[in-house]
Amino acid sequence: MNTLTYIKHFECTTCSKKYPTQGNPTYCKACQAPLLARYDLDQLCEKLDKGVIMNRPRSGIWRWRELLPLEDLAYKVTLGEGETPLLHLSAIGSKLGFKKLYLKEEGRNPSGSFKARGFSVAVSKALENNQKKLILPSAGNAGGALAAYTARANLRAKIILPKNTLPSIIAECKAAGADVILVDGSIAECGKLAEEIATTEGWHVLSTFKEPYRLEGKKTIGFELAFQLDWEPPQVVIFPTGGGTGLVGIWKAYSELSELGWLTNGRLPRMVAVQSSGCAPLVKAFFDGADVSEPWPDPHTIASGLQVPISFASRLILKIIRDTSGCCVAVTDADIVTAQRYLARFEGISVSPEGAASLAGASHLLENDLLQPDETIVIFNTASAVKYLCRSI
Ligand SMILES: *Cc1c(COP(=O)(O)O)cnc(C)c1O
Repeated sequence: MNTLTYIKHFECTTCSKKYPTQGNPTYCKACQAPLLARYDLDQLCEKLDKGVIMNRPRSGIWRWRELLPLEDLAYKVTLGEGETPLLHLSAIGSKLGFKKLYLKEEGRNPSGSFKARGFSVAVSKALENNQKKLILPSAGNAGGALAAYTARANLRAKIILPKNTLPSIIAECKAAGADVILVDGSIAECGKLAEEIATTEGWHVLSTFKEPYRLEGKKTIGFELAFQLDWEPPQVVIFPTGGGTGLVGIWKAYSELSELGWLTNGRLPRMVAVQSSGCAPLVKAFFDGADVSEPWPDPHTIASGLQVPISFASRLILKIIRDTSGCCVAVTDADIVTAQRYLARFEGISVSPEGAASLAGASHLLENDLLQPDETIVIFNTASAVKYLCRSI
């Protein structure tokens, strides 16, 4: 067997209770909180140097296999995810007043979004654990990614989407052979239905933070960023945040790299969550000084990936933002459209509304002196603009 992972156990993000890696880990039922995978970083550090990892042939997220949970690489399900470009935004930077503003172009991933990273790992683990029927509530892109990876692995997928999901994504799921159920409501209602179907029909649930493997795939964005910035953490990471796996994943990557001693300085980036003013539960909780967010009534935004009225991991997300001296910011759909046009016109980068939100957020924070012009700042285009073409901008 091709055993490579240094995973040790899972740990509850609230009570720190440890859970074994065998079986199908979910979440801490007592705390209603997510689990995080923990690795034997002391061992890994002794046996392996980051130079070895970087000298491997191009292998996407699987370059980091010792820090991923798959026991046997024979079960790896890949479509070539990861190793996306990091682009310096010099023109927009000089217009808006940033010297070192970078964009990580996640729209280049299979299925056109960064969700691919999470499902490459989660579907690989499902295959390894002999789970054949995978169910997911999604705001859109997660569904498209699950459909692609289950098609690749010849597993079954059932995807529950809000009925106003982009037609391109509904078509993408169906084309890949997934069962699609459309619900009159948001991803929150889709989540409830998914749990019911899972219980009555015996499907394995892959909802955001209700299982720990998708996060492990997502954290590879942070590993790549660390390498692309020569192991010096940026001062600020600005992520368009819905369920929060992107933000938590990047923070987890930098935490692990810091513990491994692979960073040139161990200070973690200030983590910033950008949300839409039409659905901003984390922003509200942050400014209210609350530990958890409340469900956002009547969520609506053109950035469908941010149309998430409640995150199962809100306690963890808010703690990370506060512990790293980060913050939250809400932007309007009008700000998003302006930022989208800016990126297309001045940098030649077409971005999703969510990606544009991270630029709008950066600009807002600079105007309010929450960022300094000479800080290294990273924003993310989380999905390809192409997926949104059926909605005009
Ligand atoms: C899912 C998604 C997000 C939000 O990511 P989370 O990890 O849920 O916070 C942002 N942008 C796009 C395009 C997405 O699909």
